[in-house]
Amino acid sequence: MSETVNIQSIEFGSRKINFELSYQDRKTLGIRVYPNCKVKVIAPYDTTEEKLKAKLREKAPWIIKQQLGFLSYQPLTPPRKYVNGETHLYLGRQYKLRIEKSEINEVKLFRGRLLVLKKHNASVKNLLSEWYREKAFVHFEETLKKTILLFKRFEIDEPELQIRQMSTRWGSCTPKGKVILNPELIKAPKGSIEYVIIHELCHLIHHNHTRAFYDLQEAIMPDWKKWKERLEMSLI
Ligand SMILES: [Zn+2]
Repeated sequence: MSETVNIQSIEFGSRKINFELSYQDRKTLGIRVYPNCKVKVIAPYDTTEEKLKAKLREKAPWIIKQQLGFLSYQPLTPPRKYVNGETHLYLGRQYKLRIEKSEINEVKLFRGRLLVLKKHNASVKNLLSEWYREKAFVHFEETLKKTILLFKRFEIDEPELQIRQMSTRWGSCTPKGKVILNPELIKAPKGSIEYVIIHELCHLIHHNHTRAFYDLQEAIMPDWKKWKERLEMSLI
């Protein structure tokens, strides 16, 4: 029987894990992750807070993995405030935002920062999303040109690339062979971008997620699982 129930949290990387904690007469710590991503922790009565948090931090990658499993393949970027010092991702790396007033609007990577020069009434959010979009187009186009070579034996034409904001997917493709990618993907590591493009290119040959589809994906990119995982972890 659980006696006391309360909500607590631990910090892990940039992520906060909330959990419902209860105590029971038991020997080991029990952790469950539910499909709504809620985490319940049942601890033995004599667990100290320090020990509990250490154990949860150790288990955090597993907890996040479970949560992401339930949400799989969905962009997870949290809402941003677009203020100085805030962290933004580009190709899997974190950059701190630095905003400066200027006579021109410009976004660039400068000395390890994401520098936004902006005119008086310009929106940082708009400037940044425009920058991401431009970078996305160039990088995706380049990656597509590189990865299509791995499909040589199928003699497929290079598909047309389209960039489109999608709320629940990283990529998709049309029966006519157009590959559509989410511009948010430019925030993920290069290998993960490659993985999404390869995944979509495999769909030009096998439309559904059949065994043959996965065999092909594995043959083209043997470490796809790692990059899929990195993708899911990177946009937290
Ligand atoms: Zn698919």
